[in-house]
Amino acid sequence: PSDLKNNQGFKGHDMLAPFTAGWQSTDLHPLVIERSEGCYVYDINGKKYLDSLAGLWCTALGGNEPRLVAAATEQLNKLPFYHSFWNRTTRPSLDLAKELLETFTAKKMAKAFFVNSGSEANDTQVKLVWYYNNALGRPAKKKFIARSKSYHGSTLISASLSGLPALHQKFDLPAPFVLHTDCPHYWRFHLPGETEEEFSTRLAVNLENLILKEGPETIAAFIAEPVMGAGGVIPPPATYFDKIQAVVKKYDILFIADEVICAFGRLGTMFGCDKYNIKPDLVSLAKALSSAYVPIGAVLVSPEVSDVIHSQSSKLGNFSHGFTYSGHPVSCAVAIEALKIYKERNIVEQVKSISPKFQDGLKPFSDSPIIGEIRGTGLILGTEFVDNKSPNDPFPPEWGIGAYFGAQCEKHGMLVRVSGDNIMMSPPFIITPKEIDELISIYGKALKATEERVKE
Ligand code: PLP
Repeated sequence: PSDLKNNQGFKGHDMLAPFTAGWQSTDLHPLVIERSEGCYVYDINGKKYLDSLAGLWCTALGGNEPRLVAAATEQLNKLPFYHSFWNRTTRPSLDLAKELLETFTAKKMAKAFFVNSGSEANDTQVKLVWYYNNALGRPAKKKFIARSKSYHGSTLISASLSGLPALHQKFDLPAPFVLHTDCPHYWRFHLPGETEEEFSTRLAVNLENLILKEGPETIAAFIAEPVMGAGGVIPPPATYFDKIQAVVKKYDILFIADEVICAFGRLGTMFGCDKYNIKPDLVSLAKALSSAYVPIGAVLVSPEVSDVIHSQSSKLGNFSHGFTYSGHPVSCAVAIEALKIYKERNIVEQVKSISPKFQDGLKPFSDSPIIGEIRGTGLILGTEFVDNKSPNDPFPPEWGIGAYFGAQCEKHGMLVRVSGDNIMMSPPFIITPKEIDELISIYGKALKATEERVKE
Protein backbone atom coordinates (compact mmCIF):
# COMPACT_ATOMS: atom_id res chain seq x y z
CA PRO A 1 0.00 0.00 0.00
CA SER A 2 1.35 3.34 -1.07
CA ASP A 3 0.67 5.20 2.16
CA LEU A 4 2.60 2.61 4.16
CA LYS A 5 5.72 3.16 2.07
CA ASN A 6 8.44 4.72 4.18
CA ASN A 7 6.05 4.29 7.07
CA GLN A 8 4.40 7.60 6.27
CA GLY A 9 1.20 6.31 7.80
CA PHE A 10 2.32 7.30 11.27
CA LYS A 11 4.13 10.05 12.98
CA GLY A 12 5.27 10.45 16.52
CA HIS A 13 6.22 7.53 18.72
CA ASP A 14 5.75 4.92 16.03
CA MET A 15 7.31 1.52 16.29
CA LEU A 16 9.86 2.06 13.57
CA ALA A 17 11.52 4.61 15.81
CA PRO A 18 15.23 3.93 16.09
CA PHE A 19 16.78 1.93 18.88
CA THR A 20 16.84 4.79 21.35
CA ALA A 21 17.73 3.02 24.60
CA GLY A 22 20.02 5.30 26.51
CA TRP A 23 19.61 8.40 24.36
CA GLN A 24 17.22 10.87 25.88
CA SER A 25 15.77 13.52 23.69
CA THR A 26 12.36 14.89 22.83
CA ASP A 27 13.30 15.09 19.12
CA LEU A 28 11.73 11.72 18.38
CA HIS A 29 8.47 12.43 20.19
CA PRO A 30 8.84 9.55 22.62
CA LEU A 31 5.90 8.04 24.42
CA VAL A 32 6.47 9.19 27.99
CA ILE A 33 5.22 6.81 30.66
CA GLU A 34 4.42 8.37 33.98
CA ARG A 35 2.97 5.78 36.33
CA SER A 36 1.92 2.18 36.56
CA GLU A 37 -0.75 0.12 38.23
CA GLY A 38 -0.88 -3.68 38.01
CA CYS A 39 -0.62 -4.66 34.35
CA TYR A 40 -1.23 -1.09 33.15
CA VAL A 41 0.96 1.92 32.53
CA TYR A 42 -0.17 5.52 32.00
CA ASP A 43 1.43 8.14 29.79
CA ILE A 44 1.86 11.81 30.66
CA ASN A 45 -1.49 12.61 29.06
CA GLY A 46 -3.20 10.11 31.35
CA LYS A 47 -3.80 7.54 28.60
CA LYS A 48 -3.92 4.00 29.96
CA TYR A 49 -2.17 1.07 28.25
CA LEU A 50 -2.21 -2.64 28.98
CA ASP A 51 1.50 -3.41 29.19
CA SER A 52 1.60 -6.69 27.29
CA LEU A 53 5.40 -6.88 27.46
CA ALA A 54 5.69 -6.29 31.22
CA GLY A 55 8.04 -3.36 30.61
CA LEU A 56 10.79 -5.26 28.80
CA TRP A 57 9.79 -8.82 29.76
CA CYS A 58 10.48 -7.95 33.37
CA THR A 59 7.83 -6.38 35.63
CA ALA A 60 6.64 -9.83 36.63
CA LEU A 61 4.61 -8.58 39.59
CA GLY A 62 3.15 -5.63 37.70
CA GLY A 63 3.49 -1.95 38.35
CA ASN A 64 2.65 -1.30 41.97
CA GLU A 65 3.49 -4.18 44.26
CA PRO A 66 3.60 -2.49 47.70
CA ARG A 67 5.77 -5.19 49.29
CA LEU A 68 8.59 -4.48 46.85
CA VAL A 69 8.34 -0.76 47.55
CA ALA A 70 8.37 -1.45 51.30
CA ALA A 71 11.40 -3.74 50.99
CA ALA A 72 13.31 -1.03 49.10
CA THR A 73 12.26 1.70 51.53
CA GLU A 74 13.21 -0.31 54.58
CA GLN A 75 16.62 -1.10 53.17
CA LEU A 76 17.18 2.49 52.02
CA ASN A 77 16.49 3.65 55.56
CA LYS A 78 18.75 1.03 57.12
CA LEU A 79 21.72 0.79 54.77
CA PRO A 80 21.32 2.37 51.34
CA PHE A 81 24.69 1.15 50.18
CA TYR A 82 27.68 -0.90 50.98
CA HIS A 83 29.87 -2.76 48.51
CA SER A 84 30.85 -6.40 48.23
CA PHE A 85 34.58 -6.08 47.50
CA TRP A 86 37.50 -7.52 49.55
CA ASN A 87 35.34 -9.85 51.55
CA ARG A 88 33.06 -7.09 52.78
CA THR A 89 29.38 -7.57 52.07
CA THR A 90 25.87 -6.94 53.33
CA ARG A 91 23.20 -9.13 54.79
CA PRO A 92 20.69 -8.84 51.91
CA SER A 93 23.39 -9.84 49.45
CA LEU A 94 24.28 -12.98 51.45
CA ASP A 95 20.62 -13.85 52.01
CA LEU A 96 19.73 -13.46 48.35
CA ALA A 97 22.63 -15.68 47.28
CA LYS A 98 21.44 -18.41 49.64
CA GLU A 99 17.86 -18.05 48.49
CA LEU A 100 18.75 -18.22 44.80
CA LEU A 101 20.91 -21.30 45.22
CA GLU A 102 18.01 -23.03 46.97
CA THR A 103 15.50 -21.90 44.37
CA PHE A 104 17.40 -23.14 41.32
CA THR A 105 17.02 -26.92 41.39
CA ALA A 106 17.50 -28.06 37.76
CA LYS A 107 21.12 -28.66 38.71
CA LYS A 108 22.95 -27.99 41.94
CA MET A 109 24.50 -24.54 41.97
CA ALA A 110 27.21 -23.58 44.46
CA LYS A 111 27.78 -19.86 44.16
CA ALA A 112 25.99 -16.69 43.13
CA PHE A 113 27.81 -13.68 41.69
CA PHE A 114 25.83 -10.43 41.58
CA VAL A 115 25.82 -7.90 38.77
CA ASN A 116 23.40 -5.18 37.66
CA SER A 117 21.91 -6.48 34.43
CA GLY A 118 21.57 -9.39 32.05
CA SER A 119 24.36 -8.01 29.86
CA GLU A 120 26.74 -7.87 32.80
CA ALA A 121 25.72 -11.38 33.79
CA ASN A 122 26.69 -12.69 30.35
CA ASP A 123 29.94 -10.72 30.26
CA THR A 124 30.72 -12.20 33.65
CA GLN A 125 30.04 -15.68 32.25
CA VAL A 126 32.78 -15.21 29.66
CA LYS A 127 35.32 -14.15 32.27
CA LEU A 128 34.33 -17.02 34.57
CA VAL A 129 34.68 -19.57 31.79
CA TRP A 130 38.04 -18.22 30.66
CA TYR A 131 39.29 -18.10 34.24
CA TYR A 132 38.10 -21.69 34.74
CA ASN A 133 39.90 -22.95 31.65
CA ASN A 134 43.06 -21.02 32.51
CA ALA A 135 42.94 -22.57 35.96
CA LEU A 136 42.71 -26.00 34.34
CA GLY A 137 45.75 -25.22 32.21
CA ARG A 138 43.92 -25.13 28.89
CA PRO A 139 44.03 -21.49 27.83
CA ALA A 140 43.23 -22.37 24.20
CA LYS A 141 39.70 -23.43 25.18
CA LYS A 142 38.30 -19.92 24.71
CA LYS A 143 35.63 -19.84 22.02
CA PHE A 144 31.94 -19.40 22.69
CA ILE A 145 29.14 -20.78 20.57
CA ALA A 146 25.84 -18.88 20.61
CA ARG A 147 22.91 -19.07 18.22
CA SER A 148 21.64 -16.91 15.39
CA LYS A 149 18.75 -14.69 16.53
CA SER A 150 19.70 -15.01 20.20
CA TYR A 151 19.81 -11.96 22.43
CA HIS A 152 22.24 -11.85 25.31
CA GLY A 153 22.70 -8.11 25.85
CA SER A 154 24.26 -4.91 24.61
CA THR A 155 27.75 -4.67 26.07
CA LEU A 156 30.63 -5.51 23.72
CA ILE A 157 30.73 -9.15 24.74
CA SER A 158 27.04 -9.82 25.33
CA ALA A 159 26.25 -8.13 21.99
CA SER A 160 28.88 -10.37 20.39
CA LEU A 161 27.17 -13.43 21.84
CA SER A 162 23.83 -12.18 20.54
CA GLY A 163 22.93 -13.43 17.09
CA LEU A 164 21.16 -10.33 15.81
CA PRO A 165 22.97 -8.62 12.91
CA ALA A 166 21.93 -5.10 13.99
CA LEU A 167 23.97 -5.52 17.16
CA HIS A 168 27.08 -6.34 15.14
CA GLN A 169 26.87 -4.10 12.10
CA LYS A 170 28.88 -0.88 12.39
CA PHE A 171 30.31 -2.00 15.75
CA ASP A 172 33.08 -4.33 14.48
CA LEU A 173 31.35 -7.18 16.30
CA PRO A 174 31.08 -10.02 17.04
CA ALA A 175 34.36 -10.41 18.87
CA PRO A 176 36.51 -13.05 17.13
CA PHE A 177 36.09 -15.71 19.82
CA VAL A 178 32.32 -15.90 19.28
CA LEU A 179 30.77 -18.33 16.79
CA HIS A 180 27.10 -18.67 15.93
CA THR A 181 25.22 -21.85 15.19
CA ASP A 182 21.69 -22.43 13.89
CA CYS A 183 18.62 -20.70 15.21
CA PRO A 184 16.25 -23.50 16.32
CA HIS A 185 13.20 -22.04 14.60
CA TYR A 186 11.39 -25.02 13.14
CA TRP A 187 8.72 -23.14 11.16
CA ARG A 188 11.29 -20.95 9.43
CA PHE A 189 14.17 -23.33 8.90
CA HIS A 190 12.91 -26.92 8.64
CA LEU A 191 13.41 -28.80 5.40
CA PRO A 192 10.38 -30.12 3.47
CA GLY A 193 8.99 -33.18 5.26
CA GLU A 194 11.38 -32.83 8.21
CA THR A 195 9.81 -33.47 11.64
CA GLU A 196 10.68 -31.36 14.69
CA GLU A 197 12.76 -34.22 16.05
CA GLU A 198 14.63 -34.59 12.77
CA PHE A 199 15.18 -30.84 12.64
CA SER A 200 16.65 -30.96 16.17
CA THR A 201 18.90 -33.85 15.16
CA ARG A 202 20.15 -31.90 12.15
CA LEU A 203 20.91 -28.85 14.29
CA ALA A 204 22.80 -31.00 16.81
CA VAL A 205 24.83 -32.52 13.96
CA ASN A 206 25.57 -29.04 12.62
CA LEU A 207 26.71 -28.00 16.08
CA GLU A 208 28.96 -31.03 16.35
CA ASN A 209 30.42 -30.33 12.91
CA LEU A 210 31.16 -26.75 13.90
CA ILE A 211 32.91 -27.95 17.06
CA LEU A 212 34.97 -30.49 15.11
CA LYS A 213 35.87 -27.93 12.44
CA GLU A 214 37.08 -25.42 15.04
CA GLY A 215 38.67 -28.08 17.24
CA PRO A 216 36.91 -29.12 20.47
CA GLU A 217 39.99 -28.05 22.43
CA THR A 218 39.19 -24.44 21.41
CA ILE A 219 35.50 -24.40 22.37
CA ALA A 220 34.81 -23.26 25.92
CA ALA A 221 31.07 -22.80 26.22
CA PHE A 222 27.68 -22.85 24.56
CA ILE A 223 25.10 -20.24 25.57
CA ALA A 224 21.34 -20.41 24.99
CA GLU A 225 18.08 -18.88 26.11
CA PRO A 226 15.61 -21.71 26.93
CA VAL A 227 13.01 -19.80 24.88
CA MET A 228 14.55 -17.17 22.61
CA GLY A 229 13.02 -13.80 23.41
CA ALA A 230 14.10 -10.73 21.46
CA GLY A 231 14.85 -12.85 18.38
CA GLY A 232 11.09 -13.28 18.00
CA VAL A 233 9.93 -15.63 20.80
CA ILE A 234 11.19 -18.99 19.62
CA PRO A 235 10.50 -22.00 21.86
CA PRO A 236 12.84 -24.93 21.17
CA PRO A 237 11.63 -27.72 18.86
CA ALA A 238 10.99 -31.16 20.37
CA THR A 239 14.13 -32.93 21.69
CA TYR A 240 16.35 -29.94 20.81
CA PHE A 241 17.96 -29.35 24.19
CA ASP A 242 18.46 -33.09 24.87
CA LYS A 243 20.41 -33.41 21.65
CA ILE A 244 22.35 -30.17 22.02
CA GLN A 245 23.32 -30.99 25.61
CA ALA A 246 24.62 -34.40 24.56
CA VAL A 247 26.93 -32.80 21.98
CA VAL A 248 28.16 -30.12 24.35
CA LYS A 249 28.87 -32.64 27.07
CA LYS A 250 30.74 -34.94 24.69
CA TYR A 251 33.34 -32.24 24.03
CA ASP A 252 33.66 -30.94 27.59
CA ILE A 253 32.00 -27.64 26.71
CA LEU A 254 30.20 -25.70 29.45
CA PHE A 255 26.50 -24.99 29.03
CA ILE A 256 25.31 -21.50 29.99
CA ALA A 257 21.57 -21.03 30.39
CA ASP A 258 20.58 -17.42 29.77
CA GLU A 259 17.46 -17.34 31.94
CA VAL A 260 17.15 -13.55 31.88
CA ILE A 261 13.64 -13.71 30.36
CA CYS A 262 12.52 -17.23 31.27
CA ALA A 263 13.33 -17.32 34.99
CA PHE A 264 10.93 -17.20 37.94
CA GLY A 265 7.80 -18.51 36.24
CA ARG A 266 7.43 -16.99 32.76
CA LEU A 267 7.14 -20.42 31.07
CA GLY A 268 4.95 -21.95 33.78
CA THR A 269 7.99 -23.47 35.46
CA MET A 270 10.28 -21.72 37.93
CA PHE A 271 13.09 -21.70 35.34
CA GLY A 272 13.33 -22.44 31.64
CA CYS A 273 15.84 -25.16 32.58
CA ASP A 274 13.07 -26.96 34.51
CA LYS A 275 10.82 -26.95 31.48
CA TYR A 276 13.36 -28.33 29.01
CA ASN A 277 15.40 -30.52 31.33
CA ILE A 278 18.50 -28.39 30.91
CA LYS A 279 21.36 -29.09 33.33
CA PRO A 280 23.51 -26.00 32.95
CA ASP A 281 26.95 -25.33 34.37
CA LEU A 282 26.22 -21.61 34.63
CA VAL A 283 23.03 -19.55 34.73
CA SER A 284 22.37 -15.87 33.94
CA LEU A 285 19.55 -14.06 35.72
CA ALA A 286 18.14 -10.50 35.75
CA LYS A 287 14.77 -8.86 34.98
CA ALA A 288 12.13 -10.73 37.08
CA LEU A 289 14.77 -11.33 39.75
CA SER A 290 13.60 -8.03 41.23
CA SER A 291 10.45 -7.78 39.12
CA ALA A 292 12.53 -4.97 37.56
CA TYR A 293 11.84 -2.55 40.42
CA VAL A 294 15.59 -2.05 40.85
CA PRO A 295 18.46 -3.16 38.63
CA ILE A 296 20.06 -6.47 39.55
CA GLY A 297 21.43 -9.50 37.75
CA ALA A 298 23.14 -12.66 38.91
CA VAL A 299 25.27 -15.52 37.71
CA LEU A 300 24.85 -18.93 39.29
CA VAL A 301 27.90 -21.18 39.18
CA SER A 302 27.86 -24.96 39.54
CA PRO A 303 30.15 -26.60 42.13
CA GLU A 304 32.29 -28.16 39.37
CA VAL A 305 33.14 -24.74 37.95
CA SER A 306 33.27 -22.90 41.23
CA ASP A 307 35.58 -25.49 42.86
CA VAL A 308 38.13 -25.06 40.09
CA ILE A 309 37.96 -21.28 40.25
CA HIS A 310 38.26 -21.17 44.01
CA SER A 311 40.88 -23.86 44.40
CA GLN A 312 43.07 -22.12 41.85
CA SER A 313 42.53 -18.59 42.94
CA SER A 314 45.62 -18.51 45.13
CA LYS A 315 47.70 -19.50 42.09
CA LEU A 316 45.98 -17.23 39.61
CA GLY A 317 45.09 -14.43 41.94
CA ASN A 318 41.52 -13.59 42.84
CA PHE A 319 38.77 -13.57 40.28
CA SER A 320 39.31 -9.84 39.73
CA HIS A 321 35.91 -8.87 38.54
CA GLY A 322 32.95 -7.04 40.02
CA PHE A 323 31.04 -3.80 40.02
CA THR A 324 30.47 -1.04 42.55
CA TYR A 325 26.85 -2.08 42.66
CA SER A 326 27.37 -5.87 42.67
CA GLY A 327 25.08 -7.13 45.40
CA HIS A 328 23.63 -3.67 46.03
CA PRO A 329 21.75 -4.05 49.32
CA VAL A 330 18.60 -2.29 48.11
CA SER A 331 18.44 -4.39 44.94
CA CYS A 332 19.07 -7.56 46.95
CA ALA A 333 16.40 -6.66 49.51
CA VAL A 334 13.85 -6.14 46.72
CA ALA A 335 14.89 -9.39 45.00
CA ILE A 336 14.54 -11.34 48.26
CA GLU A 337 11.01 -9.96 48.63
CA ALA A 338 10.18 -10.75 44.99
CA LEU A 339 11.30 -14.37 45.48
CA LYS A 340 9.24 -14.56 48.67
CA ILE A 341 6.18 -13.35 46.79
CA TYR A 342 6.74 -15.78 43.91
CA LYS A 343 6.82 -18.62 46.40
CA GLU A 344 4.04 -17.49 48.75
CA ARG A 345 1.64 -16.82 45.89
CA ASN A 346 2.75 -19.92 44.03
CA ILE A 347 3.36 -17.80 40.98
CA VAL A 348 4.47 -20.78 38.90
CA GLU A 349 1.09 -22.44 39.36
CA GLN A 350 -0.63 -19.13 38.68
CA VAL A 351 1.19 -18.72 35.36
CA LYS A 352 0.55 -22.36 34.51
CA SER A 353 -3.17 -22.02 35.09
CA ILE A 354 -3.64 -18.67 33.32
CA SER A 355 -1.38 -19.27 30.33
CA PRO A 356 -3.72 -21.59 28.34
CA LYS A 357 -6.21 -18.73 28.19
CA PHE A 358 -3.46 -16.46 26.85
CA GLN A 359 -2.03 -18.97 24.35
CA ASP A 360 -5.34 -20.50 23.23
CA GLY A 361 -6.94 -17.07 22.96
CA LEU A 362 -4.27 -15.72 20.62
CA LYS A 363 -3.12 -18.72 18.59
CA PRO A 364 -6.36 -18.98 16.52
CA PHE A 365 -5.42 -15.60 15.00
CA SER A 366 -2.75 -17.50 13.09
CA ASP A 367 -5.52 -18.22 10.53
CA SER A 368 -5.10 -14.62 9.42
CA PRO A 369 -3.76 -14.39 5.85
CA ILE A 370 -1.05 -11.99 6.98
CA ILE A 371 0.25 -14.11 9.89
CA GLY A 372 2.82 -16.82 9.28
CA GLU A 373 3.11 -18.13 12.78
CA ILE A 374 2.02 -17.45 16.35
CA ARG A 375 4.27 -19.24 18.81
CA GLY A 376 4.81 -19.30 22.51
CA THR A 377 4.43 -21.07 25.80
CA GLY A 378 3.45 -19.95 29.28
CA LEU A 379 3.18 -16.16 29.31
CA ILE A 380 5.36 -15.39 26.30
CA LEU A 381 4.14 -15.21 22.73
CA GLY A 382 5.38 -14.04 19.36
CA THR A 383 3.52 -13.25 16.15
CA GLU A 384 5.22 -13.12 12.78
CA PHE A 385 3.64 -11.32 9.85
CA VAL A 386 4.46 -12.68 6.39
CA ASP A 387 2.84 -12.74 2.98
CA ASN A 388 1.32 -15.95 1.61
CA LYS A 389 1.73 -17.69 5.00
CA SER A 390 5.33 -18.39 4.00
CA PRO A 391 8.50 -17.72 6.00
CA ASN A 392 10.14 -16.98 2.65
CA ASP A 393 7.73 -14.19 1.72
CA PRO A 394 8.33 -11.29 4.08
CA PHE A 395 6.33 -8.11 3.50
CA PRO A 396 8.48 -5.31 2.10
CA PRO A 397 10.09 -3.76 5.17
CA GLU A 398 9.08 -0.27 4.04
CA TRP A 399 5.44 -1.27 4.46
CA GLY A 400 6.08 -1.38 8.20
CA ILE A 401 3.42 -4.04 8.82
CA GLY A 402 4.66 -4.87 12.32
CA ALA A 403 4.89 -1.17 13.09
CA TYR A 404 1.36 -0.62 11.88
CA PHE A 405 0.06 -3.42 14.08
CA GLY A 406 2.00 -2.01 17.05
CA ALA A 407 0.63 1.47 16.48
CA GLN A 408 -2.92 0.07 16.26
CA CYS A 409 -2.42 -1.70 19.58
CA GLU A 410 -1.16 1.55 21.03
CA LYS A 411 -4.16 3.42 19.67
CA HIS A 412 -6.49 0.92 21.35
CA GLY A 413 -4.58 1.06 24.64
CA MET A 414 -1.98 -1.70 24.62
CA LEU A 415 1.81 -1.72 24.32
CA VAL A 416 3.52 -4.55 22.47
CA ARG A 417 7.11 -5.10 21.38
CA VAL A 418 7.67 -4.71 17.65
CA SER A 419 10.79 -5.88 15.88
CA GLY A 420 10.37 -5.68 12.12
CA ASP A 421 7.33 -7.85 11.40
CA ASN A 422 7.65 -9.74 14.69
CA ILE A 423 5.37 -8.84 17.57
CA MET A 424 6.24 -9.97 21.07
CA MET A 425 4.21 -10.16 24.25
CA SER A 426 5.08 -11.31 27.77
CA PRO A 427 2.57 -9.90 30.24
CA PRO A 428 3.14 -9.69 33.99
CA PHE A 429 2.67 -12.99 35.84
CA ILE A 430 -0.23 -11.38 37.74
CA ILE A 431 -2.38 -10.81 34.64
CA THR A 432 -6.03 -11.69 35.29
CA PRO A 433 -8.47 -13.54 33.00
CA LYS A 434 -10.30 -10.25 32.41
CA GLU A 435 -7.08 -8.53 31.40
CA ILE A 436 -6.26 -11.39 29.05
CA ASP A 437 -9.70 -10.92 27.44
CA GLU A 438 -8.87 -7.27 26.95
CA LEU A 439 -5.44 -8.13 25.52
CA ILE A 440 -7.00 -10.56 23.04
CA SER A 441 -9.68 -8.08 22.07
CA ILE A 442 -7.16 -5.29 21.34
CA TYR A 443 -4.94 -7.76 19.46
CA GLY A 444 -7.97 -8.72 17.33
CA LYS A 445 -8.83 -5.10 16.54
CA ALA A 446 -5.22 -4.27 15.64
CA LEU A 447 -4.99 -7.36 13.44
CA LYS A 448 -8.21 -6.52 11.60
CA ALA A 449 -6.97 -3.00 10.90
CA THR A 450 -3.61 -4.35 9.74
CA GLU A 451 -5.26 -6.87 7.40
CA GLU A 452 -7.31 -4.05 5.90
CA ARG A 453 -4.21 -1.93 5.36
CA VAL A 454 -2.45 -4.77 3.58
CA LYS A 455 -5.46 -5.23 1.28
CA GLU A 456 -5.62 -1.53 0.34
N1 PLP B 1 19.70 -11.98 28.04
C1 PLP B 1 18.45 -12.05 27.59
C2 PLP B 1 17.85 -13.37 27.24
C3 PLP B 1 17.69 -10.87 27.45
O1 PLP B 1 16.44 -10.93 26.96
C4 PLP B 1 18.27 -9.65 27.81
C5 PLP B 1 17.51 -8.39 27.70
O2 PLP B 1 16.45 -8.33 27.14
C6 PLP B 1 19.60 -9.64 28.26
C7 PLP B 1 20.28 -10.82 28.37
C8 PLP B 1 20.27 -8.35 28.60
O3 PLP B 1 19.78 -7.86 29.77
P1 PLP B 1 19.98 -6.32 30.17
O4 PLP B 1 19.18 -5.53 29.21
O5 PLP B 1 19.47 -6.28 31.59
O6 PLP B 1 21.43 -6.04 30.09
